[in-house]
Amino acid sequence: MSRRDEVLAEMGFSPVWKLRETASAKEEPAKPASNSWIELKQAVPACTACGLHKGRTQTVFGVGDEKADWLLVGEAPGAEEDRLGEPFVGQAGRLLDNMLAAIDLNRGENVYICNVLKCRPPGNRNPEPDEVAKCTPFLLRQIELIQPKLIVAMGRFAAQTLLNTDASIASLRGRVHRYAERPLIVTYHPAYLLRNLPDKSKAWSDLVFARRTMAGL
Ligand code: SF4
Repeated sequence: MSRRDEVLAEMGFSPVWKLRETASAKEEPAKPASNSWIELKQAVPACTACGLHKGRTQTVFGVGDEKADWLLVGEAPGAEEDRLGEPFVGQAGRLLDNMLAAIDLNRGENVYICNVLKCRPPGNRNPEPDEVAKCTPFLLRQIELIQPKLIVAMGRFAAQTLLNTDASIASLRGRVHRYAERPLIVTYHPAYLLRNLPDKSKAWSDLVFARRTMAGL
């Protein structure tokens, strides 16, 4: 059993192999009862599993349609997200909203947005591997509850965590990957795009590719 699966089991959540097994069953499992969401929404703000709880203003759980076909996963809350308790606010959030609008999607309408980490790393540093390992069970549980048709992993940490790989974003883009039998498409994180404007067109291509993939499901 991998370290991630051990952490999942310790926290009472299904390990990755179990999620895959469930997703590959012929009949789609029923959407879990809403009290599963309630339990998860209570567990995240109470979590002290890694050191990031010490510096947070609040946890940033995720936002959107809990039965969405689209799930967008980012990295970790920044300063504004930590202050407001919502993922992807501020400049990167506005860019994400514009990107969604360009493919006829709106935040909250058939879209759910969350991060790998639920607490802000100090100074917006990169997440540490142990923090990712400790927090990933919450993300996996969100996926299990939402049962999205398609996942868009935005940025290195989301892609590497969900695909269990060290590969670069550049090498992962442009293909349909699988997470628990669900298609997963990799693109750049909006905060990265703000610093690297030429790559915006690549992100646009990724979203068009994602929309085309969704249309074919
Ligand atoms: Fe818990 Fe995740 Fe926050 Fe760490 S980042 S304290 S694992 S909720």
